[in-house]
Amino acid sequence: MTNLDRLRIAMAEAGIPALIVSDLGSVNWLTGFTGTFGIAVVSGDAAQFITDSRSAIQAGEQVKDMPHSWFQSPVNGDEYLAQKIKEMGIQRIGFEGASVTYANFERWRDKLAGIELYGAPDLVSDLRMVKNESEIDRVRAACGIADACFEHVQRLIQPGVTEYDINLDIEFFIRRQGAEIAFPPIVVSGERSARPHGKASEKKLEVGDFLTMDFGAKVEGYCSDITRTVVVGEATDRHREIYNQVLKAEVECINAIKPGVRAADVDTLARTILDEKGLAQYFGHGLGHGLGALVHDAGRMNKTSQNVFEPGQIWTVEPGVYIPGFGGVRIEDDVLVTENGVEILTKSPKDLLVLPA
Ligand code: ZN
Ligand code: ZN
Repeated sequence: MTNLDRLRIAMAEAGIPALIVSDLGSVNWLTGFTGTFGIAVVSGDAAQFITDSRSAIQAGEQVKDMPHSWFQSPVNGDEYLAQKIKEMGIQRIGFEGASVTYANFERWRDKLAGIELYGAPDLVSDLRMVKNESEIDRVRAACGIADACFEHVQRLIQPGVTEYDINLDIEFFIRRQGAEIAFPPIVVSGERSARPHGKASEKKLEVGDFLTMDFGAKVEGYCSDITRTVVVGEATDRHREIYNQVLKAEVECINAIKPGVRAADVDTLARTILDEKGLAQYFGHGLGHGLGALVHDAGRMNKTSQNVFEPGQIWTVEPGVYIPGFGGVRIEDDVLVTENGVEILTKSPKDLLVLPA
């Protein structure tokens, strides 16, 4: 079954006769297109992919399951989209309410006068959670590059090297493998490692720093996302206690994931384990997220999540502890939900590393 077939089934179940798919991650999932501008219009019996002249050749190569066409100046994208929707004889059409801006909606509404246009539920990102073999292979390849990158970057870690040097080396390594970076890496050390999403700075590594590196590769449109924290120079008992408790939470949460289990319950488990050492108060974000065409794909592991694990989903598991004025630890792996548990896709070692070794 193609992803177009899966979307049509979901549209029929949701009572949506036609849909504009414009979120680039959704477009990639639906059509295979990886360019910077493309929109698919899908109805029960027809589908159209449109792009502009900049991506016309690429669309010809990548879009296999539906006809494609393109426009160029002086025609604009909104006019062209409206023309195609009218040609398809559509009377009512939904758009992806979660990703279309209000300004965009107003432009489409003007051009589609006479056709009912409404915000539809996010069908594609829900469908996207369960991956096919080709998608899993691409995430696997992206995880392999992330693992190789972690091994590579260790040789650079020593007192005096800046966070920025490490950041640059991570990016360079990933790109050298022919991949893209999935997101700008996070490289934070010492007290700065208490910033879960801090940016690399000119700060130099010092003995006794926690150093957290969070990065991922993107291979043919699919992402990996890994975090490792190491200690620079010399680890104290406090470093070890915090690190080992985060590690215990991460390992036990990964072991708890299997089909039918609620994501919210695994998030709670992480907090229970961290609280054995009074550390849950320092864990402010959710335990993990869906991973795929986007780094933060559909699916959240947090207290209010309604997600239930299913085979074929890919999740990150990333407990962290961030103590202001001291530093922080996060350990993150990517896991594929299988029939009876998970397969861990990122394979970098997790025992506390003190570098240089
Ligand atoms: Zn991450
Ligand atoms: Zn993540």
